[in-house]
Amino acid sequence: MSGNGGDLAYLVAAACFIIALKGLSGPRTARAGNLVGAVGALLAVVVVFVVEDLDHLGLIAATIVIGAVAGVVASRRVAMTAMPELVAAFNGVGGGAAALVALIELRDAGSASTLLAALFTVVVGCVSVAGSVVTFLKLNELMTGRPVTFPGGPVLFGAVVLADLGACVWAYQVQPDPSVMLAAAFVVLLSLAVGVLFVLPVGGADVPIAISLLNAFTGLTVAASGYVLGNTLLLVAGTLVGASGTILTRMMAAAMGRSVASILFGAFQGGSTAGSQEVSDRPVRSAGAEDVAILLGFARKVVIVPGYGLAVAQAQHTIHELVDMLQKRGVHVVYGIHPVAGRMPGHMNVLLAEAGVPYEQLMEMDDANSEMSSTDVVLVVGANDVVNPAAKTSPGSPIYGMPILTVDDARAVVFLKRSMRPGFAGIENELLYDPKTTLLFGDAKDSLTKVLQSLKVL
Ligand code: NDP
Repeated sequence: MSGNGGDLAYLVAAACFIIALKGLSGPRTARAGNLVGAVGALLAVVVVFVVEDLDHLGLIAATIVIGAVAGVVASRRVAMTAMPELVAAFNGVGGGAAALVALIELRDAGSASTLLAALFTVVVGCVSVAGSVVTFLKLNELMTGRPVTFPGGPVLFGAVVLADLGACVWAYQVQPDPSVMLAAAFVVLLSLAVGVLFVLPVGGADVPIAISLLNAFTGLTVAASGYVLGNTLLLVAGTLVGASGTILTRMMAAAMGRSVASILFGAFQGGSTAGSQEVSDRPVRSAGAEDVAILLGFARKVVIVPGYGLAVAQAQHTIHELVDMLQKRGVHVVYGIHPVAGRMPGHMNVLLAEAGVPYEQLMEMDDANSEMSSTDVVLVVGANDVVNPAAKTSPGSPIYGMPILTVDDARAVVFLKRSMRPGFAGIENELLYDPKTTLLFGDAKDSLTKVLQSLKVL
């Protein structure tokens, strides 16, 4: 293939990435979008072999095979609930790879702008890889998920950032002298330290937002390495990841009613981003599956609010069956979907789509909220924070300001959960103690199966 043919193929791949992003922005088109993106990525890899005059072909092929096998196995095995960890791991690998490439290019960077881009790639790539490792450990509970702060933390963070900048200036000044690699070693170590110190104070429900931001960082790193290597496709793909990652981070923060800065630096200012996890022993009203079946079966209008627990219990098929049965009885049923229910954006949409729930039954938060006051029963299936009225009523609460599904406006609320433990933000939900609330304790799938059986004989 000629150089022009290569450029054309890169253009097609870049167009695939843009079409993929557009497709991924809606549940109906997400699957096709994902496929188009994968085709673009495959084309981008194949073109390199055709257009470039590559050395070490065997080595390159071996690393591609190892990477592909690891990627396929990890993606197939991962539970839907562990998706943020997988994104953190893949993201760290991407940032690390871009930083390694830039390190190799550092010594031979011909112009000031290439040198600056290479240093930028090393710094942000290392911040991304170290930050991703810490978020991975936090989400896997291999270390505490709570914010880690210590006296002098902000000062240490500032000092390490300044030292990192100093090491970059040193590297810039001595290049192309071989001692640039010594300076680069300092840049690597200090940037890794910045990554760790940046993510340690982020805790609880905010960790996935840090992952999304690090993902955007990796995009910028890849874009800069595209500049260093003179590869337009890397530049385009990196910019797309950087831009979409930034937009996603802002959307997630907005859905939580917070600013990105307060999420990242809130713990530095003394406010914890995770609650106390304390559970009070006040009485609640609990009921059996038959009682819940009666409540639902004789209602006119029911709103289902799915949350993280639905994913844990893998109860998406059972809830779909229950909704079908209620509709056959003439009950009007819709799902109220909160934008940050679950552990990743679109989590509930993906889960319910997997079970074949028609999109028409899914209502976004604002639309669902306008239905609440005329709703007889809200069935909260494994959700907690996204319906917690503390977000509206308790200024001191870590979730204060987060828009919520106002299920307390409905006539009755039924929670399906296993215990009185709080949700991801670690704070109590007053609604559990409200006289209009009924709790059905147990795993969501078991409880729904029992409710379904009771409905059948109603
Ligand atoms: P929560 O984590 O607030 O609550 C989940 C509930 O599910 C808990 O009450 C838990 O109670 C229950 N549960 C867990 N497993 C089961 C099971 N097997 N059967 C029945 N119930 C179960 O989830 P929400 O979806 O309400 O809120 C999402 C949280 O994640 C928010 O704090 C949000 O800010 C945060 N977040 C979401 C992101 C996203 O993009 N979606 C990104 C970043 C953060 P029990 O243990 O008693 O069963």
